[in-house]
Parts: sequence; C-alpha cells; structure tokens
Amino acid sequence: MRRRLIALLTLPVLGTLLLPAASAAVKTGATCPKLNQSLITAGYKFTCIKSGKKLVWSNGVKVTLQSLTDLHQVAARFSDISSLAFRASLGTLRTAGIDNSKIALFLGPHSQDTAPSDFLAVRNVQKLFFGSNLPSNIDLFYYSSSDHDWAINKMMELIPRPEYMNSDDGPKTATDGTAIVALKYTGVPSQYVTSGALEAHEFFHTVQQRQFSNSQFKVWTMPRWWIEGGGRFVENLQLDNYDEKKYLLISKNNELTQYNAQYFSDFLDATTVPANGDAWTNSYNYSTAVVYGVGAKIQEMLVAFKGPSSLVGLMGEVATSGDFLTSFNKLYGITWSEFVPLAAQSIYRSTR
Ligand SMILES: [Zn+2]
Repeated sequence: MRRRLIALLTLPVLGTLLLPAASAAVKTGATCPKLNQSLITAGYKFTCIKSGKKLVWSNGVKVTLQSLTDLHQVAARFSDISSLAFRASLGTLRTAGIDNSKIALFLGPHSQDTAPSDFLAVRNVQKLFFGSNLPSNIDLFYYSSSDHDWAINKMMELIPRPEYMNSDDGPKTATDGTAIVALKYTGVPSQYVTSGALEAHEFFHTVQQRQFSNSQFKVWTMPRWWIEGGGRFVENLQLDNYDEKKYLLISKNNELTQYNAQYFSDFLDATTVPANGDAWTNSYNYSTAVVYGVGAKIQEMLVAFKGPSSLVGLMGEVATSGDFLTSFNKLYGITWSEFVPLAAQSIYRSTR
C-alpha cells in the first residue's frame, strides 16, 4: 500500500519532467536546442554537438542502466524497459549452455529455403530459455501456399495425435516432446521470414504449449496477449539479429501511439481474467496490433525484472495452479490489479 502511494505521488511529476524530453525526437542527427547539452534516453546518452552550422544530437553512447528491482517501478522507468529487457536477453543468450535437441528441416517440393541461417533463430530461443522445459525434437516446415497440402500431410505423419494444434498452419506439439514449427510464407519472403523472426515466434509457441503438456489445464489458460506477446517479443529480438538500437526502434511499436493509457488498461482487464465474457473471445474485439503489441510490452517488463526464463516459469506455475492471477502475484510480487494501471502508463509513455 505504501509503495502504491509513492508511485501515485511520483507519477505526475515524472510525467511533466520526462515526457517532453522523451518525446522531443532525441535521435542521432535530429536538431537539438543547446550545445553540449546531454540527455539519456532508453539506455543511450546523446550529446548536442555542432555539425556544420547546425546543432544536432550525436550518436548515442550506451550507458549502464539501474536494474528494475520491483514491478511497481514500470511506469516511472518506462523509458528503460525495452533496453533492460533487451540487455537481459542478450546476457542470457551469451551465457546459456547448448541445447542439443534435434532439429530437422522439411522443405516443400515447390518452396524455397527461405531462412539462410536455418536453425539459428531456434537455437537463440533455446538459449533464451535454457534450462526450461523445452521441446526435444523440432521439425521445421518451410512451405509456400502451393505446398500447403503436402505440409499438412507430412506434419500429421510426424505427429499423428498432436496434443496441441491451433490451426492447420500453426505450431503443433506432441506429448513426447516433438514440436512442429510451421513456417508458411506467401509471395516473396520478407525480412520477417528471412531473418528467422518467424521461426523464433512460431518455435516459441511450441515452447509455450510444452509447459501445458500433460497438465490438466490447457495453454489457453494463459491470456491470448501473453501467448502472442511472447511470440512478438522473441521475434523482435531476432528480426535484426539482436541489435539493440534496431530492437529499440521496432519495440517502440508505432502502431500503439493512437491509444491512451485507459485504453491499454481496459484491454488488459477485458482480456486477462475478465468480469464479463471470455478472455480469448474478448481479445478479438481488439486489433492484432494491440494484442501482440501490448502483449510484447508486458513481456518486456517481466523480462526486464526477472529475465527471460521467468516467462516460461510463469506458464509452468499456471499449468499447475490453473490460475493466472495467483501465479502472477506469486512470481512477480505484485497483484495483477495493482500492476495493470502502472503497466498501462508505462506502455502509453514509451510509445509517445
Ligand atoms: Zn503467434
């Protein structure tokens, strides 16, 4: 209760002090007001320098950020969350052990091998969640629309009785630990396909499914924004091959700028454990940009606080308890209802 009071008292002050600075387009090459003025935003320090006759912001220099020690800080620390989540992920990636699970590649007869780095994106996700309960056999299916039937037949041959199969072209998981990652593409493969971002996203879904293998509860006990937000989060990391500056640009998520904090708060209420209706059904009243984008922002906060493995850890908890709210409180030390308005503020500010 005391923490909450402090948060309420500090927010308006921070709002007026930080918001104009953060929203004043502090980026390399943009005009700045005063020579030698410096400013730290999202983990980078920018200095106002002279370039010809103009004053412009310098290249950002990476600075050390204080860690996030309590989720009550997410609103006040809005500008650090993405950097903290990125750095926690990269740190984990660099120190994780090697997962030797088998990865096999299946290429449609009329399709092209769209991911030159093949297994790299999957290996990266395995490292992010190293030590967690991960699939032991992974079959990657690359196919264009014309090979759809081939892919479905072949996939069902490999897993005749999938425990999870959310759609024909979706990821599938069997109780024995086999995961099928369907990587269907249409037209000319985009960066999303060629970078391995699609692999990261879809493979992570099989990791999510795996946490609910043999549980009395199903993976959709988790909110849809959690599932898709997790996919979006690992996808964003992979998209530019774990480049922090590029990650920060994507994770800012311009599609969310049109909404206010109340909107995010209402969305989270309606699609988590709602008073009315069903959480998954309610989520379809919102755009994909909101479901995936807000979901990814929340995942960032949790990763910034407790590292990537906690995302899988929470699903393990829910697979046992069947109750998202109780498990969230237990793992993150804040009640969901206390967290929502702070998270909504954080998302609102970080997207201005
Ligand atoms: Zn997805």
